[in-house]
Amino acid sequence: MIGNLVNTKDSHIKNLAKIVGGKKSILYHKEDLIAYDCDGFTLHKHLPKAVVFPQNTKEVSDIVRYCSENGLPFLARGAGTGLSGGAIPLNGEVIISLVRMKKLLRVDLENRRAVVEPGFVNLKLTNSISHKGYYYAPDPSSQYCCTIGGNVAENAGGAHCLKYGVTTNHILGLEVVLPNGDIIEIGQNGIPDSPGYDLLGLLTGSEGTLGIVTKITVRILKNPEAKQTVLAYFDQIEDGSQAVSDIISQGIVPAALEMMDKIAIEGVEAAAFPVGHPKDIEALLLIEVDGISAGIEEQINQILEVCKNRNVREVKVAKDEEERARWWANRKTGFGAMGAISPDYLVQDGVIPRSKLPEVLRKINRVSEDYGLRIANIFHAGDGNLHPLVLFDARVPGETEKALAAGSACLQVCADAGGTITGEHGVGIEKREEMRFVFNDEEIIAQTNIRDVFNPENLLNAGKLFPSPGRCVEIKQELKEQNAPKI
Ligand SMILES: Cc1cc2nc3c(=O)[nH]c(=O)nc-3n(C[C@H](O)[C@H](O)[C@H](O)COP(=O)(O)OP(=O)(O)OC[C@H]3O[C@@H](n4cnc5c(N)ncnc54)[C@H](O)[C@@H]3O)c2cc1C
Repeated sequence: MIGNLVNTKDSHIKNLAKIVGGKKSILYHKEDLIAYDCDGFTLHKHLPKAVVFPQNTKEVSDIVRYCSENGLPFLARGAGTGLSGGAIPLNGEVIISLVRMKKLLRVDLENRRAVVEPGFVNLKLTNSISHKGYYYAPDPSSQYCCTIGGNVAENAGGAHCLKYGVTTNHILGLEVVLPNGDIIEIGQNGIPDSPGYDLLGLLTGSEGTLGIVTKITVRILKNPEAKQTVLAYFDQIEDGSQAVSDIISQGIVPAALEMMDKIAIEGVEAAAFPVGHPKDIEALLLIEVDGISAGIEEQINQILEVCKNRNVREVKVAKDEEERARWWANRKTGFGAMGAISPDYLVQDGVIPRSKLPEVLRKINRVSEDYGLRIANIFHAGDGNLHPLVLFDARVPGETEKALAAGSACLQVCADAGGTITGEHGVGIEKREEMRFVFNDEEIIAQTNIRDVFNPENLLNAGKLFPSPGRCVEIKQELKEQNAPKI
């Protein structure tokens, strides 16, 4: 390996290498570290101190204990597809990459569960069990490469989470390495009403700030007997949005209910998986229903009727599995497709009450006009999880800052509508300050107090999830003084 030996004299590198069985399992040359200076949120870049590749829980625990005893900041990394900067080594962390812990440890069809290592790729689980008639429901669009460990940390969602729930609804047990190196098991593998605090709920979605997940027991589901997919084109975005509310208020819970607006359609049609959507429509809906065969036909007829009542221009049902797969490939590669129509884009992720969809989309359009940047919308309409994609050109001075401000303004619109600032991509470093849109100081302190119990030295993934301390530190100090015993 050629290179800039920035760290070779560092005894920490030698000691960490020893833990993971030698230099084949650690990166520390600058040119190797560059690949780890950001994740899917590319607007912040920081070099890690080193990247280590443990192969089992004991190695993870030994690395963590070493870092903790030596005051070295550290963080976990899966596939690095996170969109909010959760795996960015802000403080020159030792990155603990879980990609070599990628085994499917057990499949238990009788109890409908599987046990995986954290680096196991999401889609591989479904691919490994589909021949037996089972699948793993949470399906982020990045599922072909993101890891289940990363999904747990971000409480990942996906197109089919409307009916089946997000990651937290499918996690039955976790093995976790705490920030001092101790190993604990949480969750009683799905036994309902287990005693004690719900640590499983707490750890899932904690964005890698409370511990490092080293083993995961997940729920697996039986493949639905039948599924049908509908594509509907609208001339008015309002009609498409109203159709979403109408479908749900008819009592239908589709497996997926996705929407794209005109700019998004321009992008997906210019990219790798075009399907021939008309370019002059304002919105499309991709709707999937599944379940037992008997009920599907009726639900499809109801959906077609709703769309007609909302002035749909054209609506069609996928004629076979091949067509359905093409429609989904077109949708699921939607973020990346923005690269076909813009040099850069910023993915946002807000949630709103579904009934406010028309009003919020109008306001996001106004944000786009105010900032002079195009904003595409591709999103999980059924659960009100918006993804405004702010298109910009980082080569134009000041445009990156403008894009960030426009993204933040979109989140403010969501918060003002009674929603929140993230549905599935997490807060990371990207939305730390926007946490103030939805939590006051005391509510933030209640959460950082929990982090401090697990992660008292704040060496694990520091600087993520919460806004800069500022007023919170003052309040914490005031509370301490108020509660101090009077002498
Ligand atoms: C094109 C594209 C489409 C996407 N679509 C979706 C989508 O539909 N739905 C969705 O929810 N997300 C989506 N994402 C975001 C991303 O894929 C998810 O957040 C995913 O869960 C991250 O997994 P990862 O393995 O890449 O984790 P990373 O990016 O490596 O890490 C993410 C966070 O998890 C922590 N972490 C990772 N592994 C562990 C572990 N074992 N223990 C503790 N903490 C850990 C990291 O420290 C970091 O804070 C998309 C991303 C891209 C690029």
